[in-house]
Amino acid sequence: MKQINVSTGKPYPVKIGHGLLSGCGAEMQGIGLYGKALIVTDDNVAPFYLKKAEESLKQSGFAVFSRTLPHGEGSKNFDELVKLINFAAECGFSRSDTFVALGGGVIGDLCGFAAAVYMRGVHFVQLPTTLLAAVDSSVGGKTAVDLAAGKNLAGAFYQPALVVCDLDTFATLPQAEYANGMAEVIKYGFIRDKELLSLLQRPFEEEEVVARCVQSKAEIVANDEFDRGERMLLNFGHTVGHAIEARSGFTLPHGQAVAIGMVIVTQACVKNGLCPPETLDVMHKLLERYGLPTAAAYPMSELFDLMVNDKKSSGDAITFVLPRETGRCELKKLTRAEWTALLS
Ligand code: ADP
Ligand code: ZN
Repeated sequence: MKQINVSTGKPYPVKIGHGLLSGCGAEMQGIGLYGKALIVTDDNVAPFYLKKAEESLKQSGFAVFSRTLPHGEGSKNFDELVKLINFAAECGFSRSDTFVALGGGVIGDLCGFAAAVYMRGVHFVQLPTTLLAAVDSSVGGKTAVDLAAGKNLAGAFYQPALVVCDLDTFATLPQAEYANGMAEVIKYGFIRDKELLSLLQRPFEEEEVVARCVQSKAEIVANDEFDRGERMLLNFGHTVGHAIEARSGFTLPHGQAVAIGMVIVTQACVKNGLCPPETLDVMHKLLERYGLPTAAAYPMSELFDLMVNDKKSSGDAITFVLPRETGRCELKKLTRAEWTALLS
């Protein structure tokens, strides 16, 4: 088991290891939580893991309630949020009680936002069951629901009190979902961890790789909890990636879009002499190894307007994450003329 401490305003531990789900109740008790717990999960995850989580919490003295939502992005809306907090109110949840997210990023984002707003904030615990949630969305306190106008447009920064990642839950994860998470893992390598990129070139220890990613995220988030500077590095491949996702009508999975986004920006940097060609070679090899795409089905010209609509843009200027060498990226704010020239 590995533990990483996230030093945000309210610090919290992230525990990563095999077989941790059956001990999640004890971990919660260990940080001083007690009383009622509301486990929020989805209909893919529940049959595998809900009972185990419930039993662990009961054993540690929690009064356990649960809600199982339909899986997928479609559940990440205000309607489900309101149902969730109404349910908590009906069950008599108070400010000293806890919401527990058992699932991937969708469940974590929704449950976290519910925890942030119910009675102006109850305790929140993340039990990520996807690789993507483990290395990315369960750490750092971004919570949200989607609006008709776009994804994650309403939300709050709300850090969990504890994250327990049981790597055994990845065993039931569909291959495509695992690959999605690998895109974010590879991203950490290119933004700040060259050694991780070497580890990924061979069969690896999941515990070590997930812990390295969480360590990176913890350090970045601790320096920039509210996403005004360094945290934007985590957006590598995402400005173009989000445009590709939108252009596909959100049929292309996030990880695949980010993989293509990283390649496009890296290609552009290589072409403009900002980054050595071997960085692009390493990227191509790793993405292919983990079953991720390296080219978009759309011409760049169809993506430009979609990029300006991204949350990360302010007007037509966009802060880009540019690879400068293998394992190091830089933030650079570019005007529309500059980024069109770079990417064309
Ligand atoms: P994310 O990729 O952001 O974590 P989701 O929360 O939508 O996104 O999870 C991706 C999909 O994988 C969903 O359909 C979810 O129900 C399913 N899922 C999550 N965890 C597991 C798991 N451990 N085993 C099987 N399916 C899972
Ligand atoms: Zn992402």
